[in-house]
Amino acid sequence: MRVFKFGGASVKDADGIKNVYDVLQKVGYEDVILVVSAMGKTTNALEVVIKNYFEKSTELNSSVQEIKKYHNQILLDLFEEEKHEVFAAVNAQFAELEYFLAHNKSPNYNFVYDQVVSFGELISTNILSHFMNFMGIQTSWLDVRNFIKTNANYRDAEVDWETTQQLISKNVPRKQLNITQGFLGADENNFTTTLGREGSDYTAGIFAYCLNAESVTIWKDVPGVMNADPRYFENASLLNQISYREAIELAFYGATVIHPKTLQPLQKKEIPLYVKSFVNPLLKGTCVSKGVDLEPQYPCFIVKREQLLISLSSIDFSFIMEENISEIFGLFHEFKIKVNLIQNSAISFSVCVEDKFGNFPELNAILSKKFKVEYSENVTLYTIRHFTEEAAHTVEANKEVLLKQVSRETMQIVTKELS
Ligand code: ASP
Ligand code: MG
Repeated sequence: MRVFKFGGASVKDADGIKNVYDVLQKVGYEDVILVVSAMGKTTNALEVVIKNYFEKSTELNSSVQEIKKYHNQILLDLFEEEKHEVFAAVNAQFAELEYFLAHNKSPNYNFVYDQVVSFGELISTNILSHFMNFMGIQTSWLDVRNFIKTNANYRDAEVDWETTQQLISKNVPRKQLNITQGFLGADENNFTTTLGREGSDYTAGIFAYCLNAESVTIWKDVPGVMNADPRYFENASLLNQISYREAIELAFYGATVIHPKTLQPLQKKEIPLYVKSFVNPLLKGTCVSKGVDLEPQYPCFIVKREQLLISLSSIDFSFIMEENISEIFGLFHEFKIKVNLIQNSAISFSVCVEDKFGNFPELNAILSKKFKVEYSENVTLYTIRHFTEEAAHTVEANKEVLLKQVSRETMQIVTKELS
């Protein structure tokens, strides 16, 4: 069996959905399971609904209507005739969402979040499977909540592998096209759970693992995994092959292509993961599998912008040692500041961090009581895996280098743009 994952961007409008059909025509669809995300930015839009719900905003209803309108337009573009049964089916799903919002009594934000956002995937897969049938490809729509069982840790649920394995290997039909939802699961009481934002890749990994699939393919709007983000690097090139380990390393340093959670189950069974273009589905794309780290051996660039470089030194020239460091890290954790690089010497300690929630001023006040704190805002952290002198030069040119750290395979450079 092969597992295909189509993300939100690939099904953001009627053309996208028609393109899924074209892709299947080209690469075959017998013995395939499609894992599909919510259409376009629907998950974000549903997050707005949840916010309006909890704030008791007067905009609650209009925020739901907007999502309805968006899907309805896609239906009109795909099926034209409003007589088609899919219109009533999707309407019923929205009615169910509205019923939930009107009758829910749970004050648990995370629980409500999962019950509401799940409609994005439930609706997208409903539309997609109706469309495939409409085009003459017989499909089974599978409710993923009957297959992926999790604990009740809403918004970041953990998979119960044993039950999930049994349900999937026993009940997923073979020799046909199946369509199911990414991102969702169900707890013991059959309430909907989610696996964390962008969790659909992980869903594909779970199915592949439990089905002993031949491969997973993630269909994207790029030709595959590149050695750099083409938005920031002129000569970004396609990587043909990456090892699981290298893919995990790249993700660790911030490459957003493949989530490490997705790779773990695949690595265990050595199931190859392909990243391919949904525009040119017959091109080879990138294969992540056991084998050589990287082919071709290009340096890989990962960029993190809007970082904060903080240097702490002791006020009394004492060393910064285990005790201080563990206290400092405790504070970073408490203030939800993510540490991306560490460098320390006898009396000073530097970290490059990401302060997503704007908590640094508060933390700074605490740190300043014990340390001399210096910091530069708005710096950029470059990571180069498999660096070369030339690669380093590309990054350093026309920038002020604030810090540089080199290990065997990896060079990290913190820079400030020269203004
Ligand atoms: N729709 C979900 C999200 O946007 C899951 C996914 O796309 O992977 O986070
Ligand atoms: Mg999405």
